[in-house]
Amino acid sequence: MKNKGKLIIITGPSGVGKGTVVKELIGNNKNFWLSISATTRQPRKGEIHGKEYYFYNRKEFKKKINEGLFLEWAEFAGNLYGTPAESVTERINNGKMVILEIEVEGAKQIREKYPDNLSIFLLPPSIEELERRIRNRGTDDENSILKRLKRAQHEIESSIDFDFAITNQNVDDSIRVILDLIKPSN
Ligand code: 5GP
Repeated sequence: MKNKGKLIIITGPSGVGKGTVVKELIGNNKNFWLSISATTRQPRKGEIHGKEYYFYNRKEFKKKINEGLFLEWAEFAGNLYGTPAESVTERINNGKMVILEIEVEGAKQIREKYPDNLSIFLLPPSIEELERRIRNRGTDDENSILKRLKRAQHEIESSIDFDFAITNQNVDDSIRVILDLIKPSN
């Protein structure tokens, strides 16, 4: 029988570099699978339904919540985000290392409901550097940037609730540390 996979949560404030780190991780290992989330946020330029996210309006999203289709969901900077349950469960049963790249409240829900996971919190080197990264990526309007930064302060205080906290100084070092953390459970 196939070994069961594992759930790996990568969390931390918006702009810390979760997406970049996760992309590198996935690219380097066929056994990793990144869950595609659902959101009510408007697609950014170049984002495609079913690739970066499943994009739904609020009514559709709420319906899915009521149908119990999400492992977790949370409101973030005025939009809803959630992890579709079925695809994650299926991949774990198929022996995959499933990666969830999600914000802090959703990550806490997963930790409570599914204790068998590894959770990694990515910290920015400083709040100033976080602001610089969010602004530099140029994907959010001023209102969204301010909401994200305000929430970041509180999120960073939660880092102690997770298995490991890594300061994401640069992507290569973070990847090395994460691969080391994952290895023993492989
Ligand atoms: P963005 O709008 O920048 O794509 O994402 C905003 C925040 O929502 C990020 O911190 C991202 O990790 C998080 N996020 C993405 N998908 C999910 C999800 O399925 N659940 C939760 N709780 N957060 C998510």
